[in-house]
Amino acid sequence: MSNNESLAARGERAALIAREPELYKICEGCESIVIRDAATCPNCHGYRFDTDPDRVRIQAGVLGKRLPTSVPPSELT
Ligand SMILES: [Zn+2]
Repeated sequence: MSNNESLAARGERAALIAREPELYKICEGCESIVIRDAATCPNCHGYRFDTDPDRVRIQAGVLGKRLPTSVPPSELT
């Protein structure tokens, strides 16, 4: 129940990450995208990361596509 970020915000962030993948890295533990400066993963507290920009961009696309396709009308306004 910790993720209360809106779907739109998630999609926007995925697009942002895909534009500047060199600012991010991927946690080897949980595959979440974290900011390059982070010492440990805020999600699983892992400290092993993949900093390959190509992989970051691909992972951002995966996260963006994971968004549910059915969005209630109330979230579109
Ligand atoms: Zn992690």
